Amino acid sequence: MKVDFLRLTGILFVSGLIGLLTGQFMLCLFTGLLLYCIWYYRILRRLLDWLQQRTDNNAPELPGVIDEICREIDFLKSRHKQREFKLSGFLRRFQEATSALPDGVVVLGENGTIEWANKKANEYLDIRWPHDANQRIANLVRNPELIRFLKSTGNNKPDSSLQLDSPARASQKLEFRITSYGDSQKLLFIRDITDIYRVNQMRKDFIANASHELRSPLTVITGYLEGFSDDTETCPESWRTPVEQMRKQATRMQRLLEDLLRLSTLESTDEQKDLEPVRVPEILGTIYQEAQTLSGLMEHIFYLETDPDLWVKGSHGELFSAFSNIIFNAVQHTPGRGIIRIRWYADEEGAHLEVKDNGPGIAPEHLPRLTERFYRVDKGRSREKGGTGLGLAIVKHVLFRHGGKLHIESIPGQGSTFRCDLPSRLVIYRNDLQDSSLSA
Ligand code: ADP
Repeated sequence: MKVDFLRLTGILFVSGLIGLLTGQFMLCLFTGLLLYCIWYYRILRRLLDWLQQRTDNNAPELPGVIDEICREIDFLKSRHKQREFKLSGFLRRFQEATSALPDGVVVLGENGTIEWANKKANEYLDIRWPHDANQRIANLVRNPELIRFLKSTGNNKPDSSLQLDSPARASQKLEFRITSYGDSQKLLFIRDITDIYRVNQMRKDFIANASHELRSPLTVITGYLEGFSDDTETCPESWRTPVEQMRKQATRMQRLLEDLLRLSTLESTDEQKDLEPVRVPEILGTIYQEAQTLSGLMEHIFYLETDPDLWVKGSHGELFSAFSNIIFNAVQHTPGRGIIRIRWYADEEGAHLEVKDNGPGIAPEHLPRLTERFYRVDKGRSREKGGTGLGLAIVKHVLFRHGGKLHIESIPGQGSTFRCDLPSRLVIYRNDLQDSSLSA
């Protein structure tokens, strides 16, 4: 800066002096300044040439403040290079790490275009990187279910996953998970779940087969015990109590097997596809009468409030089983003369069955585990009342298969509320039925 200033002052002084000596002051001053500008322009030109070369060559030696600018640019360039080096190292390590993953990973950009994929994605979905870069995944993966999943999910829904047969290998089962990040990017994870699926299938088959095999002998045993206990002539007095106990236990085992079979049938498919119009108010009427019979001498006070026109699309048998489990639970777990309120209504979120009782309630630590198989707050009491411990597991499965959810609220000492939520897409009204198409 200082040099530039001195140089300019020098030029002005010399050209001014020459001007004074020749009597052409203004002309000499103007000529001096013009020469200075031309000289400066050439220096700037050299700087521009160097910048335009975009090479790694160091800046040329230039005078004054321009030289300082060159050094600054040099410094910024070397810092940028260091960063670039670090970033590409990080990217390489990230790609190496994701390539070593046992899962397939695909980075999807806007409109589902493939931005990156690892080797496993090639094995599972035949997506080749970098060959398929910028291709839309929908053009490469032809499975309509997967395409629908990719479109509909990814809005940070943590539970969204899809299980499908592998398009490449018939015996392979794959699980797809998707997560959104950035502005419109998505990460697609593909996992081989063939082994887990097989073990799960074996477990389901085992339970279904064992329950099925046990059912026939148990029916025979129960039949004989019933006949024996009813026949006062052949059954000695001293045998009455043990035979009655055996009959009760055999009946309980029969109920248990039925629930196990129901559960394994529900588990065999994920979603209920055979949807039919279900007259829920009628179902609730039947369950209401059965609940009153079950209440018997306990004389519960019932309130039933149903929207008579509110039906849903679903499975009659499954919904009957779910709703009766919730209502019978309220009867079984609420002391005599307790109040049980049953409400069937719809709002903008869908249709709901709410069963509220003023029984003993459930402590908060038990609530998340109630729908597990055989989970009971008080095992002894549940058995005594004939419970199998599978009722709420069945309810959860039925609702899941209908795209719904079970909601439980309870305050110990005050009572419990069990609410079955069914999605609005299943809601139909009796009056609209003629016009509506019942296809799912
Ligand atoms: P169970 O056959 O034992 O009723 P469920 O799966 O239907 O099995 O219910 C699991 C447990 O949840 C029950 O054992 C009971 O402890 C608790 N439970 C269910 N409904 C109620 C209720 N209305 N009030 C209090 N506890 C309940």
